[in-house]
Amino acid sequence: MNLRKLQEIKPRKSFAQHWLKSEQALLEIIRAAELLKGDRILEIGPGTGILTRRLLPLVETLVAVEIDSDLCVGLTKELGGKQNFLLLQGDFLSLNLPSLLTSFPAFKKHNKVVANIPYNITGPILEKLLGTISVPNPEPYNSIVLLVQKEVAQRLVAKPGSRTFGALSVRVQYLANCELIYTVPAKAFYPPPKVDSAVVRLVPYQIEPQAENAQQLETLVKLGFGAKRKMLRNNLQSFVERDRLTHLLKQLNINPQARAEDIGVSQWVTLSNQLGAIKSEEARSQE
Ligand code: SAH
Repeated sequence: MNLRKLQEIKPRKSFAQHWLKSEQALLEIIRAAELLKGDRILEIGPGTGILTRRLLPLVETLVAVEIDSDLCVGLTKELGGKQNFLLLQGDFLSLNLPSLLTSFPAFKKHNKVVANIPYNITGPILEKLLGTISVPNPEPYNSIVLLVQKEVAQRLVAKPGSRTFGALSVRVQYLANCELIYTVPAKAFYPPPKVDSAVVRLVPYQIEPQAENAQQLETLVKLGFGAKRKMLRNNLQSFVERDRLTHLLKQLNINPQARAEDIGVSQWVTLSNQLGAIKSEEARSQE
């Protein structure tokens, strides 16, 4: 579809519609997905189908979920005849894909996600794709390649101690290896969003060591990042006595004055596991 035609499809703000028009960005997304003939793709928000029609010839199947019924009409008209394409109209966040796909056995189970997603629901999309620390997706994807706001991409790949490292970094890095592949300027879209974007690749993995009590780790991360710019030992006071934590941080070679944003994901896991050990010792001594 050329740009003139794209511009005829009026973007809706409420659905965070920004049509990608940069050939280079499309190529980078596709390259990042490292597609194989047997891949079974899930795309969220195909929009005008600019990415969809490039992906279809390269893969075994592609399921796309699009909320905008007008766009679905156009997509069905153009791509509906393709054997390996299934379009579902609805809100990706509320759709129960596995149960819907039981009616389309040829499209069951996908191994990769490739999408230029609606930015207003990036967090919930990531959570639906990866799960959470305490409830990870039991059937993880081989890879998830997304176009997201650059600022989000930076948080996903941030290292501890950097300005962008936050709770999102810990939550996602616990579940997946994250890479920033390519920065996409705002002008690569019609209409241009307010911010630049970036292609990221997330490869789900099992971090080592695993959290012995994932729910506890989730709570610690939430509390730890709760009040900004405060020392961890203050933010975690409701969970563990300050002196105890100071002692433990020293033992783990972490500066006792560290803030949540200074602590990398594997240190979070160790911290949580050690705190668990302390807690159960405390419980035993009270028996
Ligand atoms: N992939 C296209 C469109 C990106 S814009 C391109 O690169 O040009 C984001 C797309 O997500 C739009 O088509 C929008 O209608 C769709 N969308 C927005 N919210 C959605 C939701 N909750 N579920 C599914 N699709 C959604």
